[in-house]
Amino acid sequence: MNCIFCKIIKGEAPCTKLYEDEKTFAFLDISPVNPGHTLVIPKEHYQDILEAPEEVLEALIRTTKKLSAAILKGTNSDGLNIAISNRKAAGQAVFHLHVHIIPRLKNDGLKLFPSKKYSNGEAGGIQKAIKKELF
Ligand code: AMP
Ligand code: ZN
Repeated sequence: MNCIFCKIIKGEAPCTKLYEDEKTFAFLDISPVNPGHTLVIPKEHYQDILEAPEEVLEALIRTTKKLSAAILKGTNSDGLNIAISNRKAAGQAVFHLHVHIIPRLKNDGLKLFPSKKYSNGEAGGIQKAIKKELF
């Protein structure tokens, strides 16, 4: 498998590394939204959140929290966006699960998610369709 993030973990591709433990690895995104934009990844290869087992996701969120505090202080930021893109339609470009930690400044002017409005009754229909799939 030709995965750039697997190569980074193995030291076969360069990165600006921030942290590593038994199950996770964190490094600076090569094209940051803001300086300090970090990617946290599991060492095992899973495509996305739907594929990854819960214990891997637990480790991933623990490392994300640890890094979040350090990034906020280290970059003197005012806030953070934490995001995971899942599948191509959601903008996923590297198909090795990764959490983006994006430092935000009060006046950085970014708007990450434009919003829509529900039409009459639409939210109820969506609620029903999603709840049917929960088990
Ligand atoms: P996504 O769109 O969620 O799949 O994001 C992929 C992210 O990986 C982008 O923000 C890229 O800038 C970043 N990226 C891709 N290749 C590298 C690399 N070799 N080192 C660091 N970041 C990378
Ligand atoms: Zn990989």
